[in-house]
Amino acid sequence: MALTEKQIADLKIMALAGYANSQIASMLGVDLSIVHAARSYLGYTIPKVAEMKTVPCDCCGSPVPLDAENEYTMPDGITTSNLCARCQMTVDYVNSFYDENEEDNNAVQNN
Ligand SMILES: [Zn+2]
Repeated sequence: MALTEKQIADLKIMALAGYANSQIASMLGVDLSIVHAARSYLGYTIPKVAEMKTVPCDCCGSPVPLDAENEYTMPDGITTSNLCARCQMTVDYVNSFYDENEEDNNAVQNN
């Protein structure tokens, strides 16, 4: 391993932050192949990092990969929650019972 402890720590942080290997290599001042080797050695490969970056589902608490696809926009159109696929389906199902007329009524009330 040609990296110092500091470089390894930086590599882990940058990997988790989603930096490309080429960016990590240039910031650490090492060869791209060293970044590749270090990431697989450390278990910080791209799919592993994606698994590590999870947040608890705002509904049931099960881990949800932290990416935009799992960010659910609540019916108010402003609040976003991280929901697992199962809870998103549940919320969509519940929302399907509210028709557009009810939203119109709310809009009138707000005015
Ligand atoms: Zn959930």
